[in-house]
Amino acid sequence: MSKWNAAINLNNGLVVSRLILCDGAMFELQNISKSYGAVQAVTNLDLTIASGKTTVLIGPSGCGKSTILGMMIGLVKPDAGDILFNDTPLSVGKLEQKRQRMGYVIQDGGLFPHLSARRNVTLMAQHLQRNPQETANRIQELCDLTHFPEAALDRVPAQLSGGQYQRVALMRALMLDPDVLLLDEPLGALDPLIRFDLQTELRDIFRSLGKTVIMVTHDIGEASYLGDTIVLLRDGRVVQSGAITDLIDNPFEDFVVRFMRAQRSVPGTPRENSEPRPDE
Ligand code: ADP
Ligand code: MG
Repeated sequence: MSKWNAAINLNNGLVVSRLILCDGAMFELQNISKSYGAVQAVTNLDLTIASGKTTVLIGPSGCGKSTILGMMIGLVKPDAGDILFNDTPLSVGKLEQKRQRMGYVIQDGGLFPHLSARRNVTLMAQHLQRNPQETANRIQELCDLTHFPEAALDRVPAQLSGGQYQRVALMRALMLDPDVLLLDEPLGALDPLIRFDLQTELRDIFRSLGKTVIMVTHDIGEASYLGDTIVLLRDGRVVQSGAITDLIDNPFEDFVVRFMRAQRSVPGTPRENSEPRPDE
């Protein structure tokens, strides 16, 4: 729900009351449950996703991360509870119109293998009969933003490197200039060097766009590097959410401590992600 703060100014004896619009919530999940047969994927979940911030969902495999993204985008229907998108229940009005305001990268990237990178990126714009010149301009903008070589736009996904593939998936999600980006382990399948570079690029992209981003990862280093808010999940429930420092300094339970420690570092090497960010 949008948060309105009333501010009162005293000015030459006149009381002036103003309403200031604060950053609200892009999504509100209220008491959401979802099971697949006997498997309880998500249980009584309450979660608020702040607008204009990057929220990272993290937790062990099978804890419900992809199911939560799927429900936010309207592909998976919760058994119980409500999901608000920009203050309106997802179930009210046309879902397709709401989806056009969400850019989604599914867990394996999900590009159509028989279509070129360009066709993958422009499919929805063509479906919506957007102006071809504007679409061409937008592609160029996105190639610049994601550092994707324009010369590779006519290749099919099998002819792209892993990093290029993910850049195309990201371009496709951004094509319609959505309000929110939902990224399901976008860097999960990449080798460490490419992954490291793309993490840096993603952070620059998130900052330059100022969009709401919801990203799934199982890598705590990546979560702390990219996320303003970290939501740690286990067995379909939120264990703890907050800034990474909250989870480290004030863990709610032993699982949080164990999860934070469950990543090995190489002895004698500096840990990039534990150093202060250059701009802080
Ligand atoms: P995560 O993304 O955190 O790995 P998922 O949301 O994919 O977790 O899955 C949560 C649980 O629900 C898992 O136990 C998974 O096996 C199960 N699950 C997910 N999707 C389906 C499905 N379509 N049919 C049956 N079970 C599913
Ligand atoms: Mg998943």
